[in-house]
Amino acid sequence: MPSSQLIRFALHGGAGVIDREHFGARESAYREALAAIAQDAHSRLLAGETSFDVVEAAVKQLEDCPFFNAGHGAVLNADGAVELDAAIMRGRDRAAGAVAGSKSARNPVCLARAIMEKSEHVLLIGDGADAFARAHEVATEPLAYFVLPERLQQLNLARAENRITLDHDEKYGVQLNPKDKTGTVGAVARDIHGSLAAATSTGGMTNKMPGRVGDAPLIGAGTWADDETCAISATGHGEFFIRCAVGYDIHARMIYADQSLANAADAVLARVQTMGGTGGLIAIDHLGNTYLPFNSPGMYRAWLDNAGKIQVAIYRD
Ligand code: ASP
Repeated sequence: MPSSQLIRFALHGGAGVIDREHFGARESAYREALAAIAQDAHSRLLAGETSFDVVEAAVKQLEDCPFFNAGHGAVLNADGAVELDAAIMRGRDRAAGAVAGSKSARNPVCLARAIMEKSEHVLLIGDGADAFARAHEVATEPLAYFVLPERLQQLNLARAENRITLDHDEKYGVQLNPKDKTGTVGAVARDIHGSLAAATSTGGMTNKMPGRVGDAPLIGAGTWADDETCAISATGHGEFFIRCAVGYDIHARMIYADQSLANAADAVLARVQTMGGTGGLIAIDHLGNTYLPFNSPGMYRAWLDNAGKIQVAIYRD
């Protein structure tokens, strides 16, 4: 098959400490949600939709799903509010849009796209981003839409321990229903034209300082796409992913040092780990290779394998 026809897709619902024993009966609901969204993305790619449209649609569905820390069901900051971060990037021309600290965008990934397409800017934050959403008829919601009771409980635990926690990370003592241990979401795709795209969306970390911005909306950190190299969406402790410029460093290793996607991604994640960070990423390269590495015990993920089948996995095996 000519490489131009190699459609590829992968998504993640966050990386972290996912306890197999406690997860139990809920596991199948998670797997079904991930598989359904990946299946929809596959159908769209087969129908000729662009990778850019497909990653937006997939992340929008993940934001709407309460299982994940993005959009509806996002984690809460120290003030008990949501501050939503998202980015989307098109590999063909490196067009990108991003939003940080939105308190009202129903689908932050759609706001990120609107910022890319309808403003001269790449990244809008806070009140300005929310005003832009209203002005451009991007759907907004009151706080109550985003907040699940479990998130308030999670915030109270984090406050009691004076911790800022990754949504899914039990090592900080967040011992909730596994439903609450999920994370950031993201998608990467390669379309029939050979074009790559990436999108990421998150509520960030529980009990984060108001105003804190993670890696997801920072182009070159948690989100990256360039048709010459790869599309990347990351999840994990954002401060480390920012300091490692994860998306751009993988790109740079591929283009300047001729490294494979897997070698480049492994090297960059090893650096994240050496600095003390945990997490993972999903990646597709210009040749259609798909790579989903993580250094935490689990990462919710689904992808299209080389035989065109949807695969879903949570743990390392
Ligand atoms: N990377 C996200 C952040 O630091 C958190 C996550 O992936 O769960 O905002």
